[in-house]
Amino acid sequence: MGEPRGGDLSDMADSAQPRTDVLVIGGGISGIACARALTAAGVPVRVLERSGRVGGRLASPPLPRGTDDGRPVDLGAAYFTVSDDAFAEQVADWERRGLARPWTDTLQAYAADGTAEAKSGPQRWAAPGGLRSLVADLAEGLTIETRREVSAVTPGPAVDGEPACAVVLAMPDPQAARLVAAPLRAAQAVADREWEPVIAVALGYDERTWPELPAAFVNDHPVLSLVADDGSRRGDDAPVLVAHTTGDLARRHLDDPDGVIDDVVGAVGELLGLDAAPRWTHAHRWTFASPAAPHDTPADAPFHLDDDLIAVVGDGWGSPKVETAWRSGTLLGRALAARVTC
Ligand SMILES: Cc1cc2nc3c(=O)[nH]c(=O)nc-3n(C[C@H](O)[C@H](O)[C@H](O)COP(=O)(O)OP(=O)(O)OC[C@H]3O[C@@H](n4cnc5c(N)ncnc54)[C@H](O)[C@@H]3O)c2cc1C
Repeated sequence: MGEPRGGDLSDMADSAQPRTDVLVIGGGISGIACARALTAAGVPVRVLERSGRVGGRLASPPLPRGTDDGRPVDLGAAYFTVSDDAFAEQVADWERRGLARPWTDTLQAYAADGTAEAKSGPQRWAAPGGLRSLVADLAEGLTIETRREVSAVTPGPAVDGEPACAVVLAMPDPQAARLVAAPLRAAQAVADREWEPVIAVALGYDERTWPELPAAFVNDHPVLSLVADDGSRRGDDAPVLVAHTTGDLARRHLDDPDGVIDDVVGAVGELLGLDAAPRWTHAHRWTFASPAAPHDTPADAPFHLDDDLIAVVGDGWGSPKVETAWRSGTLLGRALAARVTC
C-alpha cells in the first residue's frame, strides 16, 4: 500500500516513478464508501462524478421553484435497512449525530382489490435531511470532481486517457458498460445486464389527510409499486407523498416522465381515499433503478476486481439496496488498498 501524497523523505526517494491516483467513477454511496476506505488506508484517490453533487440514487434534488420551497424530498431510495455489523456501526454514528433516524418496521401492503394489511419487517431507516445527506457526510474531506462525466476506461488502466493507479466503476451495470470495452474483463462482467426503471413522483398537498402509512407496497397495480410518506420518514410531518411507478409504466414513459403524473395522482388519491388534489407535483426518472437480477458473488467479495486493476462496485453486487452498495464499495476499497502501490 502506498504512502499518502505530499509525504516524507521516502516519497522523494521514488519521485522518479509516475505517481497516480485511484480514480473512482461515480459519487453514489458505493463510490464514496470505496473512496473513504481507500483514503483511510492511505491510498490517494479522486472521485469523478458527472452530476453537480454526490448522492446518485440516494437523491433529494432541489425541486423547481414553486414546488417545495427548498425542502429536500427523497426521490430515490425510500429508506434503508441494516444487517451487516460494519454498516450498523456507520449507521449508529449517523444516528448519534442526528443524520439518520429509525423510521418504522411496519409497512402497509395493498392487494389488487385495494385491501391493505400491515406487515412487520426489518427496521427501516431514513434521514431528516434526506438520504443524500448521508452520502454528503461520507464524502467530507475526499477529493471529488463534480460535473466530470467520464467517457472511457482503457487498459493501463486509464480514464479518458489519464493514467490511474486503479479504476473503480461505481454505478449501475448499463452505465458502466458504456465506459468499458473488450478485452477488459470488466466489460464482460457488466455486459447484457438488465435493470428496471422507475419514475418517482413527489406530491405536495396543503395538509395531511391520509391514513397512517408510513409507506405502502402496492401489489399488482398498473401504476404504483410503492407510496411513502416523506413527512413521516423525514420526521417533519410535511404533507408530502412520494410514489414509485411500476417498471412497465416507467418503461413506456422514459422519454416523457411527466406523462405519468396524472395517472399517479389519480391512483394515489384512489388508494388512500384522498379528496384533495396535490398543490404541486414533480416527476423524476430513474432509467436504471435496480438490477433485474443480482450478480452471483461471494458474500465477502461483493464486487468485480481483476489483475488489470479495473473494478466494478455497486448495489448490483448483491441484494439491490443501499447497504449492499455501501458494503460493495467499502470491501472493494479495502481489497484494492491491499493490492495497489500508488
Ligand atoms: C426509485 C428507487 C427506490 C429505491 N428504494 C430503495 C429502498 O427503499 N431501500 C434501499 O436500500 N435501496 C433502494 N434503492 C436502491 C439504492 O438507491 C441504491 O442501492 C444505491 O443508492 C446505489 O448506490 P450506487 O453508488 O451503487 O449507485 P448510484 O447511486 O446510482 O451512483 C452512481 C453514480 O455514478 C454517476 N455516474 C454514472 N455514469 C457516470 C460517468 N460516465 N461519469 C461520471 N459519473 C457517472 C452517477 O451520476 C451517480 O452519481 C432504490 C433506488 C431507486 C432508484
